[in-house]
Amino acid sequence: MSSDDDARFMELALQQAQIGWDEGGIPIGAVLVHRGEVLAVGRNRRVQLGSAIRHGETDCLENAGRLPASVYRSSVLYTTLSPCYMCAGTAVLYEIPRIVIGENSTFSTSEDWLRSHGIELTVLDDQRCVELMQRMITERPELWAEDIGEEA
Ligand SMILES: [Zn+2]
Repeated sequence: MSSDDDARFMELALQQAQIGWDEGGIPIGAVLVHRGEVLAVGRNRRVQLGSAIRHGETDCLENAGRLPASVYRSSVLYTTLSPCYMCAGTAVLYEIPRIVIGENSTFSTSEDWLRSHGIELTVLDDQRCVELMQRMITERPELWAEDIGEEA
């Protein structure tokens, strides 16, 4: 997978994040790609669906539906923000071998743990991902606190 592909798929994840923000939700998007083919996109929909578990990555995997184990094990998960432990756990469960992360300056908890499970991480340091998160944290701090399990 070339860095051009990474940039292209991160663009899709970023579009999802922007859609989520426009819907009044938390601006985090994700894409699941298998051998260069997009299987599903997703975005954090905690607010939109009143859900406790629909983060960008888990929404994306849910949208992809039930897949054979071998598909997960040869897929790449793109996410605009460094995964929380719930999403990291899902990736470890299904043995997704690689995660491409838009940014990890706003939030980063699970990266060492993911690496300890043999998952390859690529961090793109995409400023647009940072800006969406910073805007939400400034304008809707209570939403962000809720998403990472804190009281505002
Ligand atoms: Zn998560």
